[in-house]
Amino acid sequence: MQPIQDIFPLLNQPRRIVITTHQKPDADAMGSSLALRHFLVQLGHTVTVISPTNWAGWVDWMPGTREVMDYERDRQKAEAILDQAEWLFCLDFNIFHRTKSLTEKLKQLTCTKILIDHHQEPDIPSFNYGISDTSKSSTCEMIYDFIVDSGNRDKINEEIGECIYAGVVGDTGSFRFSSAHAGVHTLVADLKTRGLNHGKIHEGLFDNFLENRLRFIGHVLLHRMEILYEYNAALIAIPKNDILKFHIRTGDTEGLVNFPQSIQGIKLVALVIDRDEERKWSFRSKGQFDCNTFARNYFEGGGHYNAAGGRSSESIEKTVERFKAVLKENATLLQ
Ligand code: 5GP
Ligand code: MN
Repeated sequence: MQPIQDIFPLLNQPRRIVITTHQKPDADAMGSSLALRHFLVQLGHTVTVISPTNWAGWVDWMPGTREVMDYERDRQKAEAILDQAEWLFCLDFNIFHRTKSLTEKLKQLTCTKILIDHHQEPDIPSFNYGISDTSKSSTCEMIYDFIVDSGNRDKINEEIGECIYAGVVGDTGSFRFSSAHAGVHTLVADLKTRGLNHGKIHEGLFDNFLENRLRFIGHVLLHRMEILYEYNAALIAIPKNDILKFHIRTGDTEGLVNFPQSIQGIKLVALVIDRDEERKWSFRSKGQFDCNTFARNYFEGGGHYNAAGGRSSESIEKTVERFKAVLKENATLLQ
């Protein structure tokens, strides 16, 4: 993989470009994809953003989401555009299997593949150019760097600012995590100087749900949360019935894993949701518990040190049982 800077001199020649990201794109995935799109269009490129799946309502307000293609919904059209692409940008993921049903198609493409991502253990040989930096708060911060470092700071307009800010807020837990380093605040100061209305972004991300989602959270915290004081851990296991009963849609469960963190002394929160195709795990920790390693070792997943995800093909009861067993094995890490 050649360094990302090597692509800067090539940006001036118009190309057919596809930008893609991980399945069920969150604020950082969608924000970085759209910010890059708005930037590349200004340079004269023909750009399509293709999401592997659908996305949540709380990213749907971002400028440009109307033009984003959903691969699962529009497979043939998306494949025709992918076949024509000269460049493929891969944002906010670093290994193709995170794009779900798009994986095989991406592997087959012979165009130039460019990685911009901040997760651990990238699949470097799959990319021609790129940057993989786990010290970055978000892929959105990396898109900001990409625009500035390529000498195009003046191209950062209102749309780009809104998309970048949304991803930074999303991935830093509203500037709370240690990933919100000084440079992140400098970036925000720059966006504010350019007229960013940050309140609008917070409303779009956090005040954009329906009543059922709040009722669902109440139900889950009352009936589905277990506090395992012995391990300073909390577990939430959500059966499929709850999802159906409360009409839960894509993105409605986002943020749920953070609630138990507000209980004094809790160092690890695990959330498992019984989805149609798999049991989906989320892990969040405070301090010295490595969620990435834990998710990789036991739940076919990964992510960051304090936030990771995983999955299981077992039943919800079985996977919860397994979680409790491996929690016991790792008890010393949580004391
Ligand atoms: P979430 O719990 O929100 O699904 O994921 C938490 C973090 O871990 C996110 O940054 C997400 O991108 C990452 N993540 C989730 N699942 C996986 C996975 O299977 N593999 C890797 N490498 N990262 C994951
Ligand atoms: Mn991210």
